[in-house]
Amino acid sequence: MDMVKQIATLQAETLNRLRNWGRYSTFDGPRTSDDENMEWIMRDAMKAELAMSRARETNRDFETTYMDVQWEVAVELAKILAETIDPAFAGTDGVKIEEEDGGACGICLEDMEKGEEVREMGVCGHKFHDHCIFQWVKRKQNCPLCRCALEPKKYTF
Ligand SMILES: [Zn+2]
Ligand SMILES: [Zn+2]
Repeated sequence: MDMVKQIATLQAETLNRLRNWGRYSTFDGPRTSDDENMEWIMRDAMKAELAMSRARETNRDFETTYMDVQWEVAVELAKILAETIDPAFAGTDGVKIEEEDGGACGICLEDMEKGEEVREMGVCGHKFHDHCIFQWVKRKQNCPLCRCALEPKKYTF
């Protein structure tokens, strides 16, 4: 695997654990933010190392090769994320509860706390806990409260 792909893959793995949809596939227990910071620092170091060796080989300055590397990694990362995001969540958005009283999740009936990351249905705007709605949308592509059909967004690359 070439270096750009390798960095992008590592980055995707970190994001996968951080993002809510990652919980259902690779999340393997709580991690400290120190772990995450360390991973980002390592990734940056790998990018810098690659840019440095390119600069030496091609006789260009480090800033230019570093920008190239950043861009290439971003493109690879976008491709990986597009492939790995769970299709069951299509038509829903990850949102943060802003209100003091976030209301109750329509599935488990427990309150959604301020600051909590939940899923909002794209068409009707009903909100549910990630873990609650994920089990539902895996089987049915509609809203469990009002039964409106989910409309997956169209992404083009
Ligand atoms: Zn719930
Ligand atoms: Zn609804």
